[in-house]
Amino acid sequence: MSNPRVLLLGAPGAGKGTQSSRISDGFGVDHITTGDALRANKGMDISELGFEHDTPGEFMDSGELVPDEVVNEIVVTALDDTDGFVLDGYPRNIEQAEFLDARTELDAVIRLTVDDAELVNRLTGRRVCPDCGENYHVEFDQPAESGICDECGAELIQREDDTEATVRERLRVFAENTEPVIDHYAGTDAYVEIDGEETPDAVWDAVETTIEQRV
Ligand code: AMP
Repeated sequence: MSNPRVLLLGAPGAGKGTQSSRISDGFGVDHITTGDALRANKGMDISELGFEHDTPGEFMDSGELVPDEVVNEIVVTALDDTDGFVLDGYPRNIEQAEFLDARTELDAVIRLTVDDAELVNRLTGRRVCPDCGENYHVEFDQPAESGICDECGAELIQREDDTEATVRERLRVFAENTEPVIDHYAGTDAYVEIDGEETPDAVWDAVETTIEQRV
C-alpha cells in the first residue's frame, strides 16, 4: 500500500484534529495542520504584506482567516518534505483549494459532518494542553486531575479563539469560505462524508476503512 494522501474537511470542532492524529499514527504519514503551524508563529511580523493586521495571531483571535500568502507558504514547505500526509485545516477557501490541486493529488477527501449547536458546545468546552497538544472537554472528556494534562502534567488552557463570540465568528467564516471548498470536492471519486457526531472510536473505524479502500 502506498502512503495515503488524505484531506480532512469539516467545521472547527468537527474532530479533524483527533482523527488526523489517528490517521498520522495509524498510517505512518505526516500530519500537516495550518492551525498548529500558525499558532506556533502567532507573533510573526507580516506587516509588509499590507493587510489590516500585522501578525497571524490578530487574525486568529478575531476568528478571521489568515491571508493565503502566509498559509500557502506553510503548506508548500510541508508538502515538499512529505510522501503521504493528512491535511487538516487547509484548504479553507476556493483559492487555497486551487493552489493545493495544482500541487498534489488526493486519495481520500473525508468530510466530518457535525451539527452547529454541537460544534459550539464542543469548542467552548474544549481545553487544550499548551505543551503536548492533547485535547480535553470540561464535560465529556475530563482529565483525571481537574485542569491538568494526563499525558504530561501541564496546566490546561482554553484557546483564545474558543470563546463563544469567536467560535460563532469562526463558524460563520467556515460557512462563507469553506463550504464552497466542500462543494468543490463533493463530486470527485475521492470524496466521502462521515458522521462526526459518533464517538471518536466509531468515527475512526469509518475513517480507517475509507482510507484503506482508496489506496
Ligand atoms: P484551527 O486550529 O484549524 O481551527 O485554526 C485556527 C485559526 O488559524 C483559524 O481560525 C484561522 O484564523 C487560522 N487558520 C488555520 N488554517 C487556516 C487556513 N488554511 N487559512 C486561513 N487561516 C487559517
